[in-house]
Amino acid sequence: MTEEKYPVFQGLMTAADERWSDGGDLHGKNYNDFVRALDKRQGQAILLGNLNYQIGNGGFRQWVDNGYGTEINNVIEVLEEVGTANAHKVIEMLEMLKSFLRKGAENKGCFSTYWIQEETTEECSECGGSGYIQEEEEDEEGNINESEERCSNCHGSGLCEGPEEDSPEGLEIAERYDHEYYAMNAQFLDEIEAFFKGEPLQKVEIMPKVLELRKPKVKLVGTDGNAFSILGKVRQALKMAKYPKEKIEEFTKEATKGDYNELLATCMKWADVC
Ligand SMILES: [Zn+2]
Repeated sequence: MTEEKYPVFQGLMTAADERWSDGGDLHGKNYNDFVRALDKRQGQAILLGNLNYQIGNGGFRQWVDNGYGTEINNVIEVLEEVGTANAHKVIEMLEMLKSFLRKGAENKGCFSTYWIQEETTEECSECGGSGYIQEEEEDEEGNINESEERCSNCHGSGLCEGPEEDSPEGLEIAERYDHEYYAMNAQFLDEIEAFFKGEPLQKVEIMPKVLELRKPKVKLVGTDGNAFSILGKVRQALKMAKYPKEKIEEFTKEATKGDYNELLATCMKWADVC
């Protein structure tokens, strides 16, 4: 990331970094406290800058492994403010990754595990995985008898609990996202620079939460075509379908900004009206 190309973004990061380094007013704080102590713009720049730098360097995996993923919710919040299609793509990736990360972890650099740990099994070293140990015994007459004993280590299963490991599924997804991120990286950085410059950005209205939510069925019988009762019925239906408050307000705004036909069209977009 060059200074000439992203002067505002880079400038904010440099200023924040100086506060964290020797002699800075935030020197000695751990990363999480440091980010929270920064002024809004510097904090946003640090969150996005570290995301971009770590992914560029070693992928999403490195971003997580170095502890930066502990700020995942704050990164998502900044990306929501950026609001572009690319920002939303990254939000989707982070939301998915989040389910493979330990909750409430603090940034301890690379000296901690941030992924959800999964137990592994490995072949028992005592019995070579057979579950039984062969022993030769000499009896009183000097005959050699073979006896088979259940392995005390694995209790006959042949498998031992191995070390815990970082969620394999999470790592696989992280790697897949790297390629998607690299493909959109240049454009995304231009957008971030524009964001910090305060330039208008093409925002998209993506509603991942609504898309997951089911479109409620609404019967308009008995409303007599009255705009207010139709609005009320759909609002009620969205509420029953567990739509968050903000989404219901969004619906209401959209439905009431135009004429009666637009109200009906909006209702049909948000609900299965019959
Ligand atoms: Zn064994």
